[in-house]
Parts: sequence; structure tokens; C-alpha cells
Amino acid sequence: MRGPKGISQMHCGFCGHPGADDRPLLGGLGVMICQLCAHEAVRSFDEGTEAAVTAFEAHTEQELVRMLRGVTRQRPQLERFQRDLVDYMRSRGMSWGSIGDGLGVARQSAWERFRRVEER
Ligand SMILES: [Zn+2]
Repeated sequence: MRGPKGISQMHCGFCGHPGADDRPLLGGLGVMICQLCAHEAVRSFDEGTEAAVTAFEAHTEQELVRMLRGVTRQRPQLERFQRDLVDYMRSRGMSWGSIGDGLGVARQSAWERFRRVEER
């Protein structure tokens, strides 16, 4: 798997901004983070939880609306990651039982939900 399909359409899961050449995204397990948020995260780790809470509470209402849009965008982004990962697992010959185990559902349910991945 060279990377999720449609990565150019991904958004940062922390601020909601789309990825761009001057604001690249880094991702893992369905979560994307932009360069600015990654720097902010490192600073939060260094300064501690209290500083992060203070910074969060300083957000304007407009920023909170943008954050809510970002959270709302996560569902289709996560579903796309999930489909891509199932596709990759099947390309490696992994069983529907293993995929179902990862999804927390029965083999049959995994097959019914994702079988179209193989029909592409
Ligand atoms: Zn961000």
C-alpha cells in the first residue's frame, strides 16, 4: 500500500484544513495531521496539559465551527481509509475472518460489507 487513495482530498483531523503543498499532511491509521497542528502538538506535549487546555479554550466561535466541520469530515475519511486497508489486506491474501476480526464483526459480515472492494 503506497498510501491511501485520494490523499489530496484529506483534511487535518485536528484543524480541518485540507492538505496542501505548503501545509502537508501526515497520517496513520485513519487520522491525518497537518504540519502546523503537528508543531502545536509537540509544543503541547512540551508545555503540558494545562497549556493545551488553555489554548483550546482560547479558540473563537468561528474556529470552533471550523473544528466541528473538521470532525464531521472525519467519518468519510475514516471510511475511505478502512476500505483502502481492507483492499490492501485482501491483496495480501488475508482471509475475511482476519478482516472481520479487525472490524469486530463476523467473517460473513466483513465479506458482505467489503466484498465490492474485490469487484472493482
Ligand atoms: Zn491541522
